[in-house]
Amino acid sequence: MKRDFLLSTFSSNSILDILIIGGGINGSGIAADASSRGLRTGLFDSFDFGAATSSCSSKLIHGGLRYLEQFEFKLVAHSLKEREILLKKAPHIVSEMRFILPHRPFLRSAWIIRLGLFLYDHLARRTILKPSYKVKLNNEGHFKKNLKTGFEYSDCWVDDARLVLLNAMDAKENGAEVRNYCQIVKAKRFKNMWVVTIKNRLTQEVFERKTKVLINAGGPWAQTIIEDNLNLTSSHQIRLIKGSHIVIPKINNINKAYILQSDDKRIIFAIPYLEKFTMIGTTDIEYDGDPRFVTISDKEKTYLLNIINEHFVKQIELKDIIWSFSGVRPLVNEKQESAQKISRDYILELNLDDSMAPLLSIFGGKITTFRQLSESVVDKISQFFTDIKPCVTKETVLPGGDFAYPVETLIFQIQTKYPWLNESVIERYAHQYGMYTYKLLKNCSKIQDMGIEFFDGLYQIEIDYLISNEFAKTEEDILWRRTKLGLEIPQEKIKSIKDYIELKLMNSPLA
Ligand SMILES: Cc1cc2nc3c(=O)[nH]c(=O)nc-3n(C[C@H](O)[C@H](O)[C@H](O)COP(=O)(O)OP(=O)(O)OC[C@H]3O[C@@H](n4cnc5c(N)ncnc54)[C@H](O)[C@@H]3O)c2cc1C
Repeated sequence: MKRDFLLSTFSSNSILDILIIGGGINGSGIAADASSRGLRTGLFDSFDFGAATSSCSSKLIHGGLRYLEQFEFKLVAHSLKEREILLKKAPHIVSEMRFILPHRPFLRSAWIIRLGLFLYDHLARRTILKPSYKVKLNNEGHFKKNLKTGFEYSDCWVDDARLVLLNAMDAKENGAEVRNYCQIVKAKRFKNMWVVTIKNRLTQEVFERKTKVLINAGGPWAQTIIEDNLNLTSSHQIRLIKGSHIVIPKINNINKAYILQSDDKRIIFAIPYLEKFTMIGTTDIEYDGDPRFVTISDKEKTYLLNIINEHFVKQIELKDIIWSFSGVRPLVNEKQESAQKISRDYILELNLDDSMAPLLSIFGGKITTFRQLSESVVDKISQFFTDIKPCVTKETVLPGGDFAYPVETLIFQIQTKYPWLNESVIERYAHQYGMYTYKLLKNCSKIQDMGIEFFDGLYQIEIDYLISNEFAKTEEDILWRRTKLGLEIPQEKIKSIKDYIELKLMNSPLA
């Protein structure tokens, strides 16, 4: 049901139904939902899609076991339900992950954990994910001797940056105007329309779009967008809470994640990451700087390492850290709660101001609930349109996700069709692009057709594909969000990729 009014119809004079400020997971999800329901949609982000909070998460589609302690039953139930929906919606980038929770009796009693896991297993219907059970630890000698038993349960893992991109691609395939590196500078409200001024930060071009409804999905910037760009008063105060992760060589060969309780009653995750690594996080720290420049502190690194070292025989040091990343949660907090107690739920605020053109702002939210949030946003603005269609995102798949068998089967099928291509490259393609791997490889029948190999398995055709199909504009877009090759590529190889992208964009600026 793809709409066929294409980019060319978006002249500066045409009026959009909705224009979304911010292409994190929430903005991209709303764009995908709105465009699939027949609304003329525009999505603009001042940097790359997902470059802010949405690529710096713990990458979990989860109910959030610890939110049960805060009696957030509704949030947990809604989140749990999304796990199996998203597993089917994007089977190439979402997968089941088993979690081991070592029991430390002085922190939480066994019956409290059992009760939490019972609720976790039953608050939402499950047909794919396995149930929880008690486990004996230490069989493999990974854990310290005092940790004898634990609990195992399921949640899901997601490539968060690609989830954002797939939603932006979906919106574009539905006919939306989708542009990264385009900043909303200001928006002025007239009786039944917003006039939005946008600056392309790469070309410096300034242009306007008119829209009937304006959506503020600015995440950590939601409040400043209202106050600085729209010149209005925000009814909610956002509190920025920094969370950081470290990445180290994998702590063992077990393909399961750990949820570890620390003495301060917090929990952190240690999650298998990209075959070779373990990702550890997160912290929860009040932040008042620019969300764009948030980084990990030494204190956070030590905090995370100490919790790991309390649990595992193998000890980790600062020098083992290969990479770190930090993001800020945009949380709504009217009461002055501690960072870890503020609700992770979202608030949608519709501002009509004397029957003027509507503004809808999103405060808070989780990656896990982006699809529900997007559905609620579009439902909420449906009153302003006469012919809006019902939401279909629960049933439709994201680009490349059109297969109902394990990724391993897809890998096998691709290998059979392209036997000359390295197995590890095929595995990476299948997990990133799913069925779109065939689109990427459509003109290739031998390795020479892949063009220059810029780095181990990064060929020219992939860069071309990412520029033409996935809005890639810089080497960082490609190395850190479309792929995670940035973790392994030597610095001296990056320059040639940068030069190639610049040349390519110069020759086809509309790519
Ligand atoms: C450390 C950490 C771990 C987390 N872990 C999880 C997890 O495991 N699971 C989970 O479900 N959730 C998790 N979350 C929460 C989740 O990551 C966030 O709620 C979510 O990413 C917020 O998405 P967003 O789209 O609202 O914001 P963002 O991703 O920050 O997007 C906002 C966008 O608005 C753009 N923007 C701002 N101003 C303008 C402007 N003037 N013009 C155009 N664009 C503009 C920005 O460039 C940005 O891309 C975590 C959060 C953190 C910080």
